[in-house]
Parts: sequence; C-alpha cells; structure tokens
Amino acid sequence: MHRPQAIPWLAYQASRCYTTSSPCYCVKQSVRVRFAPSPTGMMHLGGLRTALYNYIYAKSFGGKFILRIEDTDQGRLVEGAVDNIEQTITWAGMPPDEGPSVGGSYGPYVQSKRLHIYNENINILLQNGTAYRCFCSPQRLNLLRKEALRHRQVPRYDNRCRSLSEDQVQRKMNAGEMYVVRFKLNEEVEYFEDLVYGRTKHETHTIEGDPVLLKSDKFPTYHFANVVDDHLMNITHVLRGMEWLTSTSKHLLIYKAFEWTPPTFAHLPLLMNKDGSKLSKRQGDIFVEKFKDSGFLPEALLNFITSCGSGYQDNKSIKDLNELIKQFSIDKVTTHSATLDMEQLLRINRGHICQKLIDDKEQHNLIKELKAVIHKKLGNRISTSQVLNLNEDYLLKVLQFRKDHISKLEDLVADEYMWIQPNLSLHHFTNVSREAEKIISMVEADFQCCDKELFREDELAKRLKSISQRIANLKPGEFWKTLRFALSGITDGPSLKEMFTILGKEESLRRLQAAAALFKDS
Ligand code: GLU
Repeated sequence: MHRPQAIPWLAYQASRCYTTSSPCYCVKQSVRVRFAPSPTGMMHLGGLRTALYNYIYAKSFGGKFILRIEDTDQGRLVEGAVDNIEQTITWAGMPPDEGPSVGGSYGPYVQSKRLHIYNENINILLQNGTAYRCFCSPQRLNLLRKEALRHRQVPRYDNRCRSLSEDQVQRKMNAGEMYVVRFKLNEEVEYFEDLVYGRTKHETHTIEGDPVLLKSDKFPTYHFANVVDDHLMNITHVLRGMEWLTSTSKHLLIYKAFEWTPPTFAHLPLLMNKDGSKLSKRQGDIFVEKFKDSGFLPEALLNFITSCGSGYQDNKSIKDLNELIKQFSIDKVTTHSATLDMEQLLRINRGHICQKLIDDKEQHNLIKELKAVIHKKLGNRISTSQVLNLNEDYLLKVLQFRKDHISKLEDLVADEYMWIQPNLSLHHFTNVSREAEKIISMVEADFQCCDKELFREDELAKRLKSISQRIANLKPGEFWKTLRFALSGITDGPSLKEMFTILGKEESLRRLQAAAALFKDS
C-alpha cells in the first residue's frame, strides 16, 4: 500500500487512525468526535476527563470536537447542568466546534430537540423487521422482574411481543394501546477493535431481553439515540467511559440493522481515588466547579487528569493543553484504572502557576483567575470600603511574592490582610502592648521618609530592627505583634517585612495612620 503524495499531514494522520492493525493511507473524512454528557448533575472530574480526551483526539488530528447534550432521560435532568457543562469546557479551554450554543451543520445538538429524527429512524427498523412494537404493560414487566428475582435470576424481558402478528399489532394500535419499540437482539455479535481495550465483544442477548429503543412517550433510549446521532452527525470516533464498553456490541448490532458504518470506539478506563475507591459524586469534592472556586487552574486540572491516567510517555512533566495535544498517543492509554492522587494536583497546579508567571499573556489570565477566586471567597465583604483596589500590578506582586508558598490561588485568599483592611479597636491594641501608640508613630514617621524603591524586604528589616531597639522596655515580640496587628488585625501570620513589602508604602502608611488615629481620637 503506498502513501499518496500531497496529502495534508493531518488528514493523513486522521485516515491512518481508522485501522490500527493495517494502516490504510488513503484520505477519508476528517476526525469528528463528540462529548455527549447527560445533564444529570454538575460536571465532575470524570466528565472533564472524557471531554478532554475527545478534545485532544480531535485536535491532534485537526478534527472537530462536538458537544451533544443527551437529555432523553427527562426524569433525571438537573436544572443548570447544561449551562454548567458548557461553561466548564469553555473555562477549561476546550470550546466545542459544534454544539447547542455555537450551532453547526448537524444540529440540533440537544437530543430532546431531535425527537422527530428518532421517530423517523425508528420506522426504518420497524420496516426492515429488526425492531418491533411491544405492548407489554408495566404491570406485566414488573411481574416478570419479581419472578426472576424470586428465582435468583437477573430480570430480563422475555421477548413475548416479538411473536405478535402484523394483524395483532395493528389491532392493538387501532385500540390506542400504548407501546414501546424494542430491538431484536440477535446472536450475530461480532468482534470489534476497541482502540484501548483491543478485540472485544459482548454476547448481550445471553444476558438481557430485547432492549427498548423508543419509549411510549416517543422519547428514545440512550442506546438508540446515541447510535442515530453518532451516525447522522458523522462521528468518526467515540471516546467514552469504559462503563459503556459492554453496551457497544449492542450498539454495533443497531448500526448493522440500519446498514450504517459504525464509528471507531475507544473506551477510557475508570477514574478512581488513590486508595482504589470509586470517585463518588456524593463526596462532592469531584466537581470541577469546586476545584475552580479554590483556584485550581484549568490547565492544571487537565494535566492532572492525564498524568494519573494515561496516553503519555511522560506522566510527570507540567504540560499545557497544547502540549497535551502534541504528546498524546491513544496507544498509550492503558486499560487499568487511573488513580487520582490529589497531592499530584497540588504539585501540578503550583507548577502551572509558576509557569504562567513568566509569560506576559499568561500572567494576565492568571490574574483574572485570582480575581475570580477572591470575589468568590470574599464576595460578600468585597463591596465594603475596607477592600483594597485589586489592580493588576498589585495582584501580580502578590503572586510573585507568594508563588513558592502556595499550591492553589485560594491559599492566597487565606491571608486576608492582603485584600481587606482590618477592623481595629483601641481596646485590642492596648492588650497587645502598652507602647502600641509609640511603636506605630515611630514606624510611621520612619516610613514617611523611606524612598518607595527602598520599601523592600532587606531595607525594611534593617529599619524595623533599628526602631525596635530605640524603644525601651519592650517584651519580646511586642513590637512585631503591635505592627502585625495594625496591618492585619491579627497578631500572628507572615513576617512583618513581607507584609509591608506586599502592601507597599502607601497602603502600609494608610494602615499605620488608621491605627494612630485610634489613639488620637481616644
Ligand atoms: N450520555 C452518556 C453519558 O453521559 C454518554 C455515553 C456516550 O458517550 O456514548 O455517559
């Protein structure tokens, strides 16, 4: 097989990935993948991982990344979930090329808006005899279930309506009886080549009865809708969680019934906690929003998800999304579960913060994230007059200063003195030191004549030490505690020279003057 000339590299790559065992170098259509979440809750790390691998796969082949909302299980919908999904993938830097908000030529991209499409397509299967109408009542199905459980068997539909004659079906329909449409599961299951799990098949018909494709309310089931949509949306590769691996043989039978060419499948191994337990939404700490609000950077979360999973030669280095795309290889996705080690996330996040600080454009993004975290955490206090002006220079200074001491942006918010002017009272000062007034006025006077450029740690350390030596009869720590209290309203915390340097000359003086005013007013 020879490789034709003048094939754009990406298209050539895309065509190559279709057949991993025997590469075919002729150009086929370009890669189209989809992220197809059900809006049954806020986006969690598992969902983010599926979106990411799809995005990376599409972009590494110059293909398209599509967002499709699978909302056919109307009883499980959660309000706000669709918005949350769209916002999360956009925040993570993976905006879809096609989807509910951006549109595209294969829409609508929300399944509940495609009911007419499923109802048209179900007729194809009813007409070619691979599907049938089932009129069994919920009561009968319930009885079957109970009976099976009584005999310690797995409940399954007994396919009774398969054998209804056309006449019988027609009469029931004329009588207005409710029905579902079921697929005739047959034994012709063939092996398929999963890009991660390899040669695979599941003899679904041995464990389940004929599955429902269309419910009595005319909504499709997931199994039917995902096949119809993947086909009509020209999806070339389906990358999804391994919980769907056992359903894939069933999906392939549906493709066959339609005489459609199926996409290539790649199932991603489970994400687990480090201790081997399942990630649980109930734990609450797996929601992307929670990480976002704590000041984890999107790049760090993405890097983290891949570092403890697979797809890369080197799992340790700090990679941004571009590097993740460049270095990704589906061959390196392994079948064993990916374990999440939160300690790694802290290390990776710190790495990304430091990396962003040395790039002008990225600095700006980092500052934006920091602002969002501050507003989130201190939001209800941020409108008061005590709040500092969070300008870019100040935020950058804080980041430069504290970068080696933090793992996430939230850690910066914990030092409230950097964001909020303290609420001081004379009574508290006198508890700290009887010489508080003197200490404050001496330091204020000294700082007044300190050049702005000299307002840095080494110089301040010298000045403070010299002032403290000029005040007689101070107990150890009294001098430092008084000043720290004037700056922050608490007596413990970071070193004074660091606090003064971070706040800068103007703000430091403002706080010292506010403290001094308390004594004057008394
Ligand atoms: N709606 C399914 C889910 O949220 C998608 C499965 C698939 O990608 O086919 O898990």
